[in-house]
Amino acid sequence: MTQTIPGLHHVTVVSGPPQQNVDFYVGTLLQRLVKKTVNFDDPGTYHLYYGNDRAEPGSILTFFPFVDAGPGRAGPGMASAVAYAVPNGGLDAWVAALAEAGVDHEGPFTRFGEQMIALSDPDGLRIELIETDRGTAGTAGGDAPTDGGFHSVTLWLRNPDRTARLLTDVFGYASAGQASEGGETRYRFVADGQGRGSVIDLMTSDVTAAGRPGAGTIHHVAFRAETDDVQMGWQETLRAQGFDVTPQIDRQYFNAIYFREPGGVLFEIATDPPGFATDEPMEKLGQALKLPEQHERLRDQIERILPPVTVPQRGRGGR
Ligand code: ZN
Repeated sequence: MTQTIPGLHHVTVVSGPPQQNVDFYVGTLLQRLVKKTVNFDDPGTYHLYYGNDRAEPGSILTFFPFVDAGPGRAGPGMASAVAYAVPNGGLDAWVAALAEAGVDHEGPFTRFGEQMIALSDPDGLRIELIETDRGTAGTAGGDAPTDGGFHSVTLWLRNPDRTARLLTDVFGYASAGQASEGGETRYRFVADGQGRGSVIDLMTSDVTAAGRPGAGTIHHVAFRAETDDVQMGWQETLRAQGFDVTPQIDRQYFNAIYFREPGGVLFEIATDPPGFATDEPMEKLGQALKLPEQHERLRDQIERILPPVTVPQRGRGGR
């Protein structure tokens, strides 16, 4: 049986100071803080995970709030936008809520037949909210209207051909056409099943300025593997295709392998298990600072270094 990628697992972004990040994603975008931990490779820095109520793969946006991250800017060879799925009819409520929170947005406009708006997070990351009946978009008017998780991620590429072939020939995505928007052209690819985060847009742009990694830019894009065995299958398949794939790395809440796709974006394949309730109960996710075993002995020191963060109530952003 040929295996296929079911969609996104998580997206990881570099951010500025953590408090404004938490205020925006919990207070304004109504995400749940599902894990407060540290960057395992740099335990003096937080790693903050946001997701839907059940902390499901395909809804997880994570941040490294590096103290000294200068402002970044998306450009060719980088992932340039994250889109959340909004249930059909749900966009008006978002427009009103964003106006009330004092957050500017572009749109509404239409892309591939779907209504959407776009905004920037406090560090300039482009966030899109797209109305869709695709997969499991959340319940309109519910407590968390973004419960459907991701709609898509946009990869800004100089030339999409080889990345497109990776998506279709290796990952099992289907080509879903192309569309032009201003000076941009998008090539859409959709994973089998069309669940959370099943869409990838490859974008080329008339803008030729180089991007710059830093706050507000996407560090990597992680796809799902349902089990460790499936992930090991991907490692073998990708290595056979000539990709330089890392060994499996334990990220506590999932296992990860990484490789750079042909357009320059860092890709990860992350396992669904064990998930975010592995070290604290589902109802308490995100409340306590969680450290992996190897850093637990440094807890006092780490807690002194990390700036305090107060989590706002959802829908009470813009303090
Ligand atoms: Zn990751």
